[in-house]
Amino acid sequence: MIGNDFKLGQRVIMRKPHACGSSEWEIIRTGADVKIKCIGCGRVVMLDRGDFIKAAKAVMEASDDKDR
Ligand SMILES: [Zn+2]
Repeated sequence: MIGNDFKLGQRVIMRKPHACGSSEWEIIRTGADVKIKCIGCGRVVMLDRGDFIKAAKAVMEASDDKDR
């Protein structure tokens, strides 16, 4: 489980790998629902925010975070 500390454009590792074998997803929308895109195959999935937080294992720090 992750906290509420995630934002658009970050990559997350999900507990269960996707059918394509990748467990890495990019957050493409946040709000009451969270939309994520599979890095492996490009599939987009929308999850309830609470479900997303439970299903995610870790948030990856963006290597090119220039806003900070
Ligand atoms: Zn996939």
